[in-house]
Amino acid sequence: MSASFEDLALSRELLDAVKDLGFEEPSPIQILAIPSLLAGRDALGQAQTGTGKTAAFGLPILEKTSAGKGVQALVLCPTRELAIQVAEELNRLAARKRDIAILPIYGGQFIERQIRALGKGAQVVVGTPGRVIDHLQRGTLRLDGLACIVLDEADEMLDMGFREDIEAILEQTPAGCQRVLFSATMPTPILELSKRFLREPEMLTIAHKMLTIPAIEQTYYEVRPYQKMDALCRVLDSQGFRKALVFCSTKRSVDEVSTHLQQRGYQADGLHGDLAQPQRDRVMQRFRAEGIDILVATDVAARGIDVDDVDAVINYDMPHDVEKYVHRIGRTGRAGRVGSAFTFVTLREHYKLRDIIRCTKARITQGRLPTLRDVDN
Ligand code: ADP
Ligand code: MG
Repeated sequence: MSASFEDLALSRELLDAVKDLGFEEPSPIQILAIPSLLAGRDALGQAQTGTGKTAAFGLPILEKTSAGKGVQALVLCPTRELAIQVAEELNRLAARKRDIAILPIYGGQFIERQIRALGKGAQVVVGTPGRVIDHLQRGTLRLDGLACIVLDEADEMLDMGFREDIEAILEQTPAGCQRVLFSATMPTPILELSKRFLREPEMLTIAHKMLTIPAIEQTYYEVRPYQKMDALCRVLDSQGFRKALVFCSTKRSVDEVSTHLQQRGYQADGLHGDLAQPQRDRVMQRFRAEGIDILVATDVAARGIDVDDVDAVINYDMPHDVEKYVHRIGRTGRAGRVGSAFTFVTLREHYKLRDIIRCTKARITQGRLPTLRDVDN
């Protein structure tokens, strides 16, 4: 599938912005989604992470959004980080359009500030479901002029318990509003949601045999639980990464690992849901600006994070299921860049690794870590 952005019936301002961003050609999901979203169809989209879904819905939204009017598009995202990130990407895409305000609203940020910003007028709102509901109840956000609603990472939002909030929001959208649902996976609850709220949706699916992105080199190491910290340092030392994202399964594990790394002199910090929002923002900002080069995070905190140049993902703790694995390693090798993924597997977790290999059909080769005994000899 190949096409150029010029073929996609987008206005000059958007085409120029896309060029400024260095996008050479539209990705498959963009080729598929942009025309049908421009045509106003409801849609149900499925594509891997890192395939450019934000621009796939963002460009059509921006094409139709005009200055002056109230909120015309609403994008729902599972986490604060993702809301910020999607809003940033939309801002970059809207850089050459005048007077379009794109506002992220999420929990943890002072609501008063958001109320003031909403009061000044926003054309596109990107928010987490809980905070959007809050504003709807206060009357500080109104959806009567809404032309399009997008549920981004809908499966994640349902997993996180946002079903009722999402349904309540969808129920408040006006009758003619375009509804778009993007999800990495299509479990029954997603299909039910789309059946209930979407009208003859266009199915936007990028067929893929492999769930993962081939540009990612995947390695696993057999380790004993007590060897993990050491193994982590060896992987970090031996490879010379610019930016590494380390996944742990619990908040406690994040704290332990990031503290340990700091004590050993690495530029590392941790990210998890117990940290206050300003602190989370600060950590993300430092990671982006290269104040730190190792970010240790839980799955929830790292959801959808798109930081340029993450060249390694390290699964310090094994992900709980195949989808988590795919989501995690999708944080590297974004947009065709090369990335590596390393997974620590303890003896008891071998069955999980087999599941991952079976479902993703990925080649995950065994790497050999020098053990302490090797070093002694
Ligand atoms: P997804 O939501 O599918 O996980 P994103 O929309 O976050 O993916 O896009 C991943 C990265 O790819 C972002 O950095 C984005 O700027 C970049 N990107 C999007 N579309 C293109 C394109 N057509 N060409 C090059 N890079 C792109
Ligand atoms: Mg996305």
